[in-house]
Amino acid sequence: MFQVSVEETFSSGHALRGYKGKCENVHGHNYRVQVSLEGPELDNIGLLVDFTRLKQIVRAIIQRLDHQFINDLEPFTTVNPSAENLAKYFYDEASEKLDSVTRGRVRVKNVTVFETDTTTATYSEP
Ligand SMILES: [Zn+2]
Repeated sequence: MFQVSVEETFSSGHALRGYKGKCENVHGHNYRVQVSLEGPELDNIGLLVDFTRLKQIVRAIIQRLDHQFINDLEPFTTVNPSAENLAKYFYDEASEKLDSVTRGRVRVKNVTVFETDTTTATYSEP
């Protein structure tokens, strides 16, 4: 299997509903998101996916969240905007966008969301 990853950053506000502690209050993070793809076959010029294309996909997802209060955006009006749920959101969105580009040749392996330099959450599917 070949694997490629890109990282992008964004800054957003959120509040964790039901959290007993200071994270229940509105606060912000400088998030970092790493999206990793995998596939057994390269394209005709030896790439799994062009990094530029992958960055476009990730940036398109970020554009909706950057400098916003995430709790106001679907699905986070009901889904708690934890790093775990953000990782799943990026996974689902990137998978959908990637499918139209690679037609199933490449899949999203996992997504890691960094809330800080030392706290991360990762989502993947078997
Ligand atoms: Zn937080």
